[in-house]
Amino acid sequence: MSRTPSRRGLLRGLTVTGAAVIGFDPAARSWAVTASGSATELAGLPRLDGTLHADHASLTAAADDYGHIVHHRPVAVLRPGSVRDVVSMVRFCNEQRLPVAPRGQGHAPFGQAQVEGGLVIETAPLADIGPVGKGSTTVTVGAGARWSAVAKATLAHGLTPPVFTDYLELSVGGTLSVGGLGGQVHRHGAQVDNVTALRVVTGAGELVRCSPSRRSDLFHAVLAGLGQCGIIVEATLRLVRAPETVRHYRLSYDDLETFLDDQRVLVREGRFDYVEGQVSADAGGAFRVHTLEAVAYGPPTGPAPDDAALLRGLRHDPSTVHSGDLPYYDFLDRLAPLVAADKEAGVWTYAHPWLNLMLPGSSAATVSARILNALTPADLGPGVVLFYPLLRDRLTTPLLRTSDEEVSYLFDVLSAVPPDDTATVDRLLTANRSAYEAAAAVGGTQYPVGSIPFTRADWRTHFGAAWPRLKSAKRTYDPRGILVPGQGIF
Ligand SMILES: Cc1cc2nc3c(=O)[nH]c(=O)nc-3n(C[C@H](O)[C@H](O)[C@H](O)COP(=O)(O)OP(=O)(O)OC[C@H]3O[C@@H](n4cnc5c(N)ncnc54)[C@H](O)[C@@H]3O)c2cc1C
Repeated sequence: MSRTPSRRGLLRGLTVTGAAVIGFDPAARSWAVTASGSATELAGLPRLDGTLHADHASLTAAADDYGHIVHHRPVAVLRPGSVRDVVSMVRFCNEQRLPVAPRGQGHAPFGQAQVEGGLVIETAPLADIGPVGKGSTTVTVGAGARWSAVAKATLAHGLTPPVFTDYLELSVGGTLSVGGLGGQVHRHGAQVDNVTALRVVTGAGELVRCSPSRRSDLFHAVLAGLGQCGIIVEATLRLVRAPETVRHYRLSYDDLETFLDDQRVLVREGRFDYVEGQVSADAGGAFRVHTLEAVAYGPPTGPAPDDAALLRGLRHDPSTVHSGDLPYYDFLDRLAPLVAADKEAGVWTYAHPWLNLMLPGSSAATVSARILNALTPADLGPGVVLFYPLLRDRLTTPLLRTSDEEVSYLFDVLSAVPPDDTATVDRLLTANRSAYEAAAAVGGTQYPVGSIPFTRADWRTHFGAAWPRLKSAKRTYDPRGILVPGQGIF
């Protein structure tokens, strides 16, 4: 916004980057930024330990994300110097009915952390970790801490959170607001199932501690709650002993159904500590190269891996078994070299019209085969297709939705498209919608970290039995509906 604020009606502003000053006109309910105004002319914005930014670069960055598809421009970006800043600015925005969105690493691809005309709160400065000691069973971390930093800090004491996303440079708050899935879920549940307490700033600007036994309605509304009822500022995470090394297996399958069946066998039996898988295209461009990825942890948390016992009865091609031992952290951070290569090649900044579906086990092969038959290597680009098998009874967080079956599969088609090829992006978004409908028709849904056009009615269906509680928590904790409009839920 470029309108110069009038003295009358402006709340107090504060100097932001350079000479710019930001103020708020309550009569017009609009923000105003001026390069020439003086902070003393403006009245009302809270005093902050951190900084509020309204420069072009900050607003442009906050109006973009990993998807590069949706662009909603905020009027200001808060880099908090303290939790108190988050409280003060959310209170202010609540009074003025201004929309607010927390942003961790901005890796959601479809505008989920963006907010037109409102305030983006960057959580990255809230990244304290610890203390953690040898016998700790939990660690408390700031919501802006990245999982790589949490892993390094806890591994220094031989400890680790039990579940990781494949990519570690995501914020704790960002993954706890969606679920946090990885190959360890069949053993330990999702990241949200391994949180013992939270500190949350509600939409009314109240700072609340919550846990399964204290303000449990808020706790359960925030974990996998897509930012709708509160901003996580701190999380207490469960820790387990860490292995020193792991053995990583890659097994090839030429048939989708057998590949999925063996994933199911492995998660039911719990033979491995980690199970995922990929599908890639063969030389003719057909998606029928299936690779099951399985990992067994070594001492001190597991026995030395026994190849024959671990692979017994599996129906992979025995002539193409790849396995290798590596340090635990190198395994957790295995995507780092690939991400560096993608950045080097310029494809990290491609558009990401991602499809992420939760498919019931009984229909996973049929639904995914139809989607894979229609997929071309050109549409996937330098992206990947992934399957994560999930066990229902390990998933205890009400808002993390899967199918009702014992085994579900997270099926990801993670396309990467040159950002100026908007025709392909649009076509893939339409295809994502059809794929979602096919999944919903058999009792599946989406894992909400992708780019699927979704209506409010879809969200009600998505949350199913959990919807009434989410709606009620929204009324209680974000009564003016200011939080995270980019999800399009309320
Ligand atoms: C390369 C890559 C790999 C990935 N791998 C996995 C994977 O293996 N498993 C998996 O489960 N997911 C994976 N994801 C998805 C990822 O977990 C989600 O997109 C996650 O939300 C991103 O975290 P972020 O810090 O970037 O969040 P952001 O994109 O910044 O925010 C995501 C949403 O959460 C809200 N939010 C952010 N911080 C908070 C907070 N503190 N309190 C409340 N709400 C908040 C935002 O407003 C927004 O709506 C991957 C994503 C990428 C880009």
